[in-house]
Amino acid sequence: MVTQDFTDALISIVDKENVDDSKAGRLVYSYDATPQFQSMPDIVVSPRNTKEISEIVKLCSEYKVPIVPRGSGTNLCAGTCPTEGGLVLLFKHMNQILEIDEENLTVTVQPGIITLEMIHAVEDKGLFYPPDPSSMKISTIGGNINENSGGLRGLKYGVTRDYVLALEIVLPNGDIIRTGGKLAKDVAGYDLTRLFVGSEGTLGIITEATLKLIPMPETKKTMLALYQDLEAAARSVSKIIANKIIPTTLEFLDQPTLIAVEDFANIGLPTNVKAVLLIEQDGSSDVVEKDMKEMASICLEESAESVQVAGSEEEADALRTARRTALSALARLKPTTILEDATVPRSEIAKMVRAINEIAQKYQLNICTFGHAGDGNLHPTCPTDIRNHEEIERVEQAFAEIFAKAIELGGTITGEHGVGVMKAPYLEWKLGQEGIAAMKAIKSSFDPLNIMNPGKVFAKDNRKRVVVTK
Ligand SMILES: Cc1cc2nc3c(=O)[nH]c(=O)nc-3n(C[C@H](O)[C@H](O)[C@H](O)COP(=O)(O)OP(=O)(O)OC[C@H]3O[C@@H](n4cnc5c(N)ncnc54)[C@H](O)[C@@H]3O)c2cc1C
Repeated sequence: MVTQDFTDALISIVDKENVDDSKAGRLVYSYDATPQFQSMPDIVVSPRNTKEISEIVKLCSEYKVPIVPRGSGTNLCAGTCPTEGGLVLLFKHMNQILEIDEENLTVTVQPGIITLEMIHAVEDKGLFYPPDPSSMKISTIGGNINENSGGLRGLKYGVTRDYVLALEIVLPNGDIIRTGGKLAKDVAGYDLTRLFVGSEGTLGIITEATLKLIPMPETKKTMLALYQDLEAAARSVSKIIANKIIPTTLEFLDQPTLIAVEDFANIGLPTNVKAVLLIEQDGSSDVVEKDMKEMASICLEESAESVQVAGSEEEADALRTARRTALSALARLKPTTILEDATVPRSEIAKMVRAINEIAQKYQLNICTFGHAGDGNLHPTCPTDIRNHEEIERVEQAFAEIFAKAIELGGTITGEHGVGVMKAPYLEWKLGQEGIAAMKAIKSSFDPLNIMNPGKVFAKDNRKRVVVTK
């Protein structure tokens, strides 16, 4: 519990200017990017280094105060909503690049560094950090690691997990450990680095990370394939991959998303087609030329209306940026935007797109779909209004059916946004009771007092559970 004694002890660790228990200060951190969730923290703290974090964690253990680590709060699963009150821990003083190692091709950072700032810094040295969540202009590396975030380049290059080499972590008892290293090979014991990637702040606090870099690809090309048939676009995705081509980017946008994005970005996107695929390949120029030609033929064979190759890097960049603004563009349509990330094996993309449209019709909802189609990761998005309780009920039911369909097709309830509170009611569908029990055993062995981001990942009825017959 946060008492005056607790607050005084906290101030003695980090100094007064780094502790805020004012109502206005706490209100700012009572919610994140997830609609429908808000809850006040008791206190907000901004430590300056790992040692201070360790002392804060020991203090929180003593007083049984929940800790909610928070990067930029852009997660979409209510992962930083302090649903059980407690202390929100910010990383605004821990946002530095500590080292770019050009011999080992690594970058070592503090968790509060903004993703795009780090990407720019390594690109200045001719190096490449591929994970590029659409939120990278504001998200932090600490958040990316804890959500195992993906991006437009995930199909070819993988997600954040594939680039985390080493971590410094403050455990829930205040111990400081280091995992991994600047190593291509390391099998010394359990892989704790991987365990902490995607752990959503529930196992400990990441205070430093060493990430893998790769050489910048020689060249890249971008094209748009235009379709009057949604399923033909989805079929092209599976067919490109079945033809053993792995493009850097293979993104899907349906017509309602295209209209919203064009209205927002104004770059001349086609709005009179039912869907587009944004396709990109990088590498040596001969491979890029060959792959782009083959992918264009596949799209045309699958009845694409046309295929348009970007004429310049500026045009390509505008297309990528437009895709990245999809959520922001859709968020302008109605007061509330509910976005999900049901994910299926690539071969099932067409079936999933069809199912989303049927479910939208069944519940009379406007569900727009875009996403990382090459990863099987779709973002069905419903612009709605939280004040319309009857419609929100239908939205909940529709999404529950979408998750059930994803699982039926061999997929998962979340490809990159994490479980948090939002998806906790559905986790058992994916893991079964035994899987949940195994995860709970890990959680309780690291955090027996349950002070690290409690109420996340494991079900509480914060989001209404809807029972769907599968
Ligand atoms: C417009 C928009 C576009 C998006 N696009 C994408 C996308 O393309 N791909 C994608 O994967 N996601 C996307 N997201 C989701 C979100 O941006 C990512 O999950 C991102 O990684 C969160 O970063 P953050 O700094 O905001 O973390 P936060 O939201 O602050 O935190 C995320 C989680 O990490 C924990 N955490 C944060 N820092 C630490 C730390 N140092 N130690 C321990 N735990 C910590 C928090 O407790 C929380 O559980 C998008 C979100 C928005 C709003």
